[in-house]
Amino acid sequence: MKHKKSVICAVVAFLVLATVFGMGSSTTVAKELTSDSIKEKEEQIKAAEEEKKELQNGLSDLKQIKKDLEKSKNDLSKYVEELDANLADIESKIEELKQLIADKEAEIADTEKKLEEAQRIEQEQYEAMKVRIKFMYEKSDDFYLETIFSAKSFGDILNKADYIEQLSAYDREMLDQYALNSQMIQLYKEELETEKEILDEAKAGVVAEQASLQALIGEKEQQITAYQSDINNKEAAIKEYEEDIAAQTAVITALEKAVAEEKAKLLAENGSVITYDGGVFAWPAPSYTRVSSEYGNRMHPTLGVVKFHNGIDLAAPSGSPISAAYDGKVVASDYNASMGKYIMIDHGNDLYTIYMHASALYVSKGETVAKGQEIAAVGSTGRSTGPHLHFGVRLNGSYVSPWNYLSK
Ligand SMILES: [Zn+2]
Repeated sequence: MKHKKSVICAVVAFLVLATVFGMGSSTTVAKELTSDSIKEKEEQIKAAEEEKKELQNGLSDLKQIKKDLEKSKNDLSKYVEELDANLADIESKIEELKQLIADKEAEIADTEKKLEEAQRIEQEQYEAMKVRIKFMYEKSDDFYLETIFSAKSFGDILNKADYIEQLSAYDREMLDQYALNSQMIQLYKEELETEKEILDEAKAGVVAEQASLQALIGEKEQQITAYQSDINNKEAAIKEYEEDIAAQTAVITALEKAVAEEKAKLLAENGSVITYDGGVFAWPAPSYTRVSSEYGNRMHPTLGVVKFHNGIDLAAPSGSPISAAYDGKVVASDYNASMGKYIMIDHGNDLYTIYMHASALYVSKGETVAKGQEIAAVGSTGRSTGPHLHFGVRLNGSYVSPWNYLSK
């Protein structure tokens, strides 16, 4: 009994599985499904490869800007090295001048000593002469008489008078010579002092040059630091941007995969799926036509590097209507930190439209929408710098230009 019951159970289980997997009469559909899923996988691989290429392009942009910034930094470093070499020259010039000034000061001190000595000699001679002149004045007549009377002969008298005269003349001559010597030394000392003044001025000039060069080096070093932080900031900002886009794409790719799976199931059940008839899209922001950022490679407004923009941005005030570009089925009406409030519509044949940064969503997942139907309102939710509609179009798992479907 027990054995028989388990056999029945196995048969029932087989029947259930057979129904679930569409075995039996629908084997041809299963075959189509398999080739469909292969095609889908191939397309997903293609999309992933394209996305990878896109990311690599972004990466080479980053490498280029980093290279440029590093070149500027290196150029500046080289310039600072040159400035440092100039500074070393200037410092050795200052040392040289300091030595020359010290030598000059020693020479001045030496000359001063010589001048003092000369002035002392001059003063002594003057004092001695004064004493002799005073003596001769005081004793003049007596002295002369005494000298004359003490003479042994007339020739002696003449000799003695001559001697007195010679003595006073010698005194004067000596005094004149000593005074001249002092004057010469004084002049020499003055000349040395002038030379020292010139050296002092030269030194002051070079010291000022040193100060301005040091200030310049300080400034350049600050610039180098700024360049370095710029390199770091840029790297961080670009990395963040790339991660953000990668995260968006991951969400969208997952949605596309889910839709594909659902469609495969519908096909298996012989249900109908949406197909795109090739018609032109309706403008997704009916009241505003200004494109604030184009599709494709463009200078990123805040990163300052060329980045791929996967849709078009339509600048419109918050609350302006957003309408479905074409007939389709809503596959996502959701919120995401990056896309904000967003809607994704399936138009069939692997063609999707995406509407980001809305302030309000009017349709839900699974709803069928018609071309031109109001589906949301413009806003600035998610990663957005101001109210705008980011409108993206995906075909076979990759972003394509919305202009392929819109009439300008
Ligand atoms: Zn955008």
